[in-house]
Amino acid sequence: MSVSAYVGLGSNLQDPAAQLARAVMELARLPQTTLLAQSPFYASRPVGPQDQPDFVNGAVELSTSLLPHQLLDHLQAIEQAHGRERLRHWGPRTLDLDLLLFGDETLSDERLTVPHTELANRDFALQPLLDLNPELALPDGRRVDQLRAQCQDNQLRKLPPMAGSD
Ligand code: ATP
Ligand code: CA
Ligand code: CA
Repeated sequence: MSVSAYVGLGSNLQDPAAQLARAVMELARLPQTTLLAQSPFYASRPVGPQDQPDFVNGAVELSTSLLPHQLLDHLQAIEQAHGRERLRHWGPRTLDLDLLLFGDETLSDERLTVPHTELANRDFALQPLLDLNPELALPDGRRVDQLRAQCQDNQLRKLPPMAGSD
């Protein structure tokens, strides 16, 4: 059985928009998975340490029959392939892939919490979700558009579509 999963993408090192575009293609090639839609990309101010470049963020909607932890394994493998190094908490990175939503499932263990714990507080995660699906709601019923209207402002700027991205 397939579910609709939403993955948030972020990067602020080594040509962030190109990192994201490559990651979208890699997500589209995952086993048992189809890429349904890709959001626009946004520039945003970093959360946490401010002495680092702005981020580029986006999201994709996947249809997948992978289990949540299997999908996380693949997300982490893609991060590694993009040369991600863990330097400091919320620090700069070449690629961050967060599993934001997995159908209407709610789960939490030492490796994986879904919905992502910070989703409701982050405009750079909520806005791309809204672009993908204006009707989207969290498993607890909270609507993404309402959360987006209430959350902290990270100065999102929509980026022009990348040449050759469609
Ligand atoms: P944040 O979680 O606040 O966005 P981060 O993305 O910088 O911070 P990471 O260093 O990328 O955090 O991830 C730390 C750990 O979070 C990962 O090892 C992973 O096991 C765990 N994790 C828990 N829930 C999720 C999720 N929904 N998506 C991705 N990773 C998750
Ligand atoms: Ca993250
Ligand atoms: Ca992460």
